[in-house]
Amino acid sequence: MSDHEYSFFGAVEKSFDKAAKHTKWDDGILTQIKACNAVYRMRFPVKRDNGNIEVIEAYRVQHSQHKTPCKGGIRFSEAVNQDEVMALAALMTYKCAIVNVPFGGGKGGIKINPKEYTTYELEKITRRYTAELIKKNFIGPGTDVPAPDYGTGEREMAWILDTYAAMHPGEIDAAGCVTGKPVTQGGVRGRREATGLGVFFGLREVCNMPEIMKRQGLTVGVDGKKVAVQGLGNVGYHSAKFFQDAGAKIVGLSEHDGAIYNENGLDVDEVFAFKIKTGTILNFPGSTNFDKKEDMLEMECDILIPAALENVINGENAPRVKAKIIGEAANGPLTPEADEIFVKKGVLVVPDMYLNAGGVTVSYFEWLKNLSHVRYGRMEKRFTENLNAHILGQIEELSGKKVKDNEREFILHGPDEVDLVYSGLEETMITATNEIMNKWLDDPSIPDMRTAAYVVAINKVGTSYAELGIFP
Ligand code: NAD
Repeated sequence: MSDHEYSFFGAVEKSFDKAAKHTKWDDGILTQIKACNAVYRMRFPVKRDNGNIEVIEAYRVQHSQHKTPCKGGIRFSEAVNQDEVMALAALMTYKCAIVNVPFGGGKGGIKINPKEYTTYELEKITRRYTAELIKKNFIGPGTDVPAPDYGTGEREMAWILDTYAAMHPGEIDAAGCVTGKPVTQGGVRGRREATGLGVFFGLREVCNMPEIMKRQGLTVGVDGKKVAVQGLGNVGYHSAKFFQDAGAKIVGLSEHDGAIYNENGLDVDEVFAFKIKTGTILNFPGSTNFDKKEDMLEMECDILIPAALENVINGENAPRVKAKIIGEAANGPLTPEADEIFVKKGVLVVPDMYLNAGGVTVSYFEWLKNLSHVRYGRMEKRFTENLNAHILGQIEELSGKKVKDNEREFILHGPDEVDLVYSGLEETMITATNEIMNKWLDDPSIPDMRTAAYVVAINKVGTSYAELGIFP
């Protein structure tokens, strides 16, 4: 299939089939793992502020129930279609399996450009979509739990929760029907930046592997690496910010209306503030505009992070990409043709399927918080601080020396919710990176890291289906 007739779900199936050859599962199990279990396509009317009635097209796909609930974001984009939602739902199944989050894959999409609707219209659309999900039992803390994705955020998640709770009076776990909520509505601290932070933790782990860095012709560590990021939304902004804070240089940034570069580094926060003020990143002081936004993908850099939409690097532009590592922060930014070109060129592609799993990992923490009805850290923070103060006091008394003030602060500190969330995410991403990398390095017949990630995922979902048995 050429890029022209590109099917995102087809690409996921193609990657799956490539990896399945490296597993021991029989065809029946593989077919069940691959299949999209339920596709809900809906249409509903919405009255615009000008009085016109508009019919909205929307989807929710449940790819797998090998573990429940299903989990996956809701996307607001004009490009939404059934193929795309199915592909994204399938990726969620594999993603959750890799990072040991006990959910099946799901995804939702509403085919609108949110920039063309007022806040009131968006609220009506989101609430009506939620009501349609409720009607068919496609949402609930134990069945299917949406989250933010492209074009949606905390605001939309709060509307979803409010609609769900209003229609389920007395349901004590209602807050667990959706994640990515504002903290005041049962959200968890650290969810907003989770995907970008996970991208950083995953790539940092790769950059700390001496053998891999030698192979890519790079030095070990993140410090001083030249990084380019496509998309300055939730995932792109936070990915760029965490790399910058760790000493990397952000040399290029792109948005929907253009791209900029500065070989000496761009300050992510300043660019972001400039975008809020002027509506664009173009002409940011001290930077140079690219002629076309796509040119940013081909710039000289060590790490390229596509964090906007799928299919942006394909058979046509992949040969011109100069990055030595590509970190797939977005879902499906590379086509299978691009993958093949990068294997030949020796470019390391760190795959979306686990690299952007920070969002769902922290969503899992949020869901657990909602079901347990208690904030992380609430029970142990004071106890830990009192214990640490006592231990430190004993050490100082016995040694006759005092520790420095900044050290004292660090040692005494008991964990807040955000500390525990970051720590759980760091552990998850480091473990997943090593599991995939070991699978890849152990089997020379596996061509790339994406295939290795699929093999890990297929083995976990396969085990789950095999142990569940098939309902007669
Ligand atoms: P977002 O809406 O917050 O940000 C996307 C940004 O990309 C926007 O600023 C938009 O203007 C920009 N953009 C659009 N077209 C572009 C183009 N051609 N070139 C450059 N920039 C462009 O969305 P997000 O939540 O950051 O999601 C981005 C990607 O990450 C999606 O593929 C999504 O599926 C994936 N993802 C998101 C999460 C999450 O937690 N939000 C989790 C996993 C994966």
